[in-house]
Amino acid sequence: MNTIFEKSNGSDGINLTESVSDIDFLPDYLLRKNNVGLPQLSELDVMRHYKELSDLNFCIEKGFYPLGSCTMKYNPKVNEFLSSLEGFNIHPNIDDDKAQGCLELMYKLKTALLEITGMDAITLQPSAGAHGEMTGMMIIKRYFETVGEQRTKVIIPDSAHGTNPASAKMAGFDIVEIKSNKKGQVDINALKEVLNDDIAAIMMTNPNTLGIFEEQVEEISEIMHKNGSLLYYDGANFNAIMGYTNPKLMGFDVVHLNLHKTFSTPHGGGGPGAGVVAVVDKLKDYLPVPDIIYQNGNYKKDYSIKNTIGSVKDFYGNFSILVRAYAYILMMGKNLKKATENAVLNANYLKEKLKKYYNLPYDEPCMHEFVITGEKQKEENGVSTLNIAKAMMDGNTHPPTVYFPLIVHEAMMIEPTESENKQTLDDFINIMIRIADECKLDTEKILSAPHTTPVKKIDEVTAARHPDLNYKGN
Ligand SMILES: *Cc1c(COP(=O)(O)O)cnc(C)c1O
Repeated sequence: MNTIFEKSNGSDGINLTESVSDIDFLPDYLLRKNNVGLPQLSELDVMRHYKELSDLNFCIEKGFYPLGSCTMKYNPKVNEFLSSLEGFNIHPNIDDDKAQGCLELMYKLKTALLEITGMDAITLQPSAGAHGEMTGMMIIKRYFETVGEQRTKVIIPDSAHGTNPASAKMAGFDIVEIKSNKKGQVDINALKEVLNDDIAAIMMTNPNTLGIFEEQVEEISEIMHKNGSLLYYDGANFNAIMGYTNPKLMGFDVVHLNLHKTFSTPHGGGGPGAGVVAVVDKLKDYLPVPDIIYQNGNYKKDYSIKNTIGSVKDFYGNFSILVRAYAYILMMGKNLKKATENAVLNANYLKEKLKKYYNLPYDEPCMHEFVITGEKQKEENGVSTLNIAKAMMDGNTHPPTVYFPLIVHEAMMIEPTESENKQTLDDFINIMIRIADECKLDTEKILSAPHTTPVKKIDEVTAARHPDLNYKGN
């Protein structure tokens, strides 16, 4: 497909000199002397160009998207409609008394999320999961500074999401990594070995990124609290436990949620998102400002949080994401628990069906996702997980997350989510069985995949090391 520059044919969409009636008032030095070199096409040509371009993209509306840990699920279209309502699109600097509806929505969303997480106080400000992690770690840091304790280190299991160590480091902590045990869970002995007065917190994901529930979480919480340390819960993928249990019951002190995953906002490509952070009572005085409160019959912004870490984002965060999340929660009601059930059921169904064809490193019941590998195919047929992922694209399926978590060789991390039906899951199983067969019988086809996508096999090393992103022109 040609670029829009190559398609340029000299036609005019709009004549700017005619529509801007008088530019005489501009001083001469501000007037452009040369042609800008923008492509020139009619409006219709431009529309067709960008429609064609967007049709080349893969998206959840086109096919199955089991990208592990990313929760690529159906996001109800009514959310988009609601978030675009005129009353929700007001200037963030408007006075509180003219923004009562927006403030009420945020207040009620806070209340709902506190019930879902079991926590005592919450901020809606951070604009992504990783941003929530950093906010949470800053809260933990400020807490220890305030109570006068020098704690400089954070423990992170080796199965953690990559953002965890990055966020803790950004907040000024050093990272202590601990290994997982044979069941893919935190090794309690390894944890005890690294404990001392320097440890501020542990950052955990439960279920962890292997999709496995940390059965010893209560013991871990007891050990950490006895050491005077805190527990951080990465709740990006909350559809694994929502309605069944919560981080408070497991003994955590801070949690972030990805509203753009569990609570239905289309995401990917860097946003927009909302990584809200909830805390237990003893940390509530450190939350970012402003908070949204309800007082004397009015909703209002409150800047009076005692030891606040300050603001982490302008105004309230990504407001339109909050609208979508609140709409989703109201729509689902008690069925939020059903979403968890289906997410876990779908993942276990796929895992059980696929384990005959692919290596399953941890043969345990999983939560919302699971990890299989291409190790067998690599050993027997010289085909890598990357080749298998490319072959899936020929089956109109987005590949799962690959080569993550890092502790599993040739990993494929699969998350079907709650919104797929059995037919879609069975179609995916058949694609995966066909690929496993073709690895043996038609190895060359798998090695040279994909064959049906707009862009065929690319040189990934050159693309990553020497990206060339400039249009050079004719
Ligand atoms: C997605 C995810 C994150 C990061 O969220 P972003 O919004 O992409 O910053 C962190 N932890 C886990 C477990 C995740 O799945």
